[in-house]
Amino acid sequence: MDTILEVRNLKKYFKTPQGDLHAVDDVSFSIMRGKTLGVVGESGCGKSTLGNLIIGLLTPTSGEIFFEGREISKVQGEERRNLFKKIQMIFQDPFSSLNPRMYVEQLIAEPLKNFRVCKNKKELEQRVTELMEFAGIPQRLRYSYPHELDGGRRQRIGIARALALDPTFVVCDEPVSALDVSIQAQILNLMMDAQEEKGLTFMFISHDLSVVKHISSDIVVMYLGQIVERASPKKLFKDPLHPYTKGLLAAIPVPSAERKKRSILRGELTSPINPGKKCRFANRCIYAEERCRCEEPVLREIMPEHYVSCHRAEEINSIPSQAEATESNR
Ligand code: SF4
Repeated sequence: MDTILEVRNLKKYFKTPQGDLHAVDDVSFSIMRGKTLGVVGESGCGKSTLGNLIIGLLTPTSGEIFFEGREISKVQGEERRNLFKKIQMIFQDPFSSLNPRMYVEQLIAEPLKNFRVCKNKKELEQRVTELMEFAGIPQRLRYSYPHELDGGRRQRIGIARALALDPTFVVCDEPVSALDVSIQAQILNLMMDAQEEKGLTFMFISHDLSVVKHISSDIVVMYLGQIVERASPKKLFKDPLHPYTKGLLAAIPVPSAERKKRSILRGELTSPINPGKKCRFANRCIYAEERCRCEEPVLREIMPEHYVSCHRAEEINSIPSQAEATESNR
């Protein structure tokens, strides 16, 4: 299996009157072809900015994004157009992302027309029919407008549009957060079917860990523009290592009988404007010490394929540090 997307030291700062807002700050990761990377964090953690950088809606302040081995900022003209055919996006709010003056057939045909994919009208209509069938949209809704449909059907149109150009990589930005719980499951199942059938790779952005758990091969947790933890869903849910991830997991509602001692997130958020060289979670962390307020932690592998950015991760989780492990092996 090869790496389809690699992000190296990616930064996106926005100028504000108060200073630079560090929306994405030195983020690096890669995604293997056919897998799903879940990206979770609270509103404002930079996860949607990250998605917009990858699909080319925003230009990075610095850093590199490699797609299928090519640095995307260096690809220009017709080649760039072809490259971005392979990278598509499913948006959070299907209602605001669909043109209210277009009916279903026109909405699904739009990307096909823009990229002149079909040779003639008949082929275009046939392709729209196939996409509607795949996305589970009944043909009788072909001439319906978005306001005549429920949220689930509108999101099915969003998925049909995203798949119209046969992409290999899809950024899914909170695709189910605006939907009822029962509809969420249907849309997630549709996305997993699409992944299996078409060999798609997903970057699945969500504020809800329980949603990404079911669809992801690997999860990264973001906090104020940085990755603070990366692991498989199994490891992350069983043994979260970062105090922030522990807080996010504790915030997932569970029946009272299963409720354990919870580490609820409290305290003031650090400003994302010129945050300085320190742990950005320090204001909310019950384990914070002096070092946390003057030295920025780096993401490191402290258990096999489990990465965390915290000075005190070993201590907090009773894991022997590298020096202790070497000493006990002597
Ligand atoms: Fe908490 Fe310090 Fe770890 Fe940051 S580095 S998460 S403040 S213990």
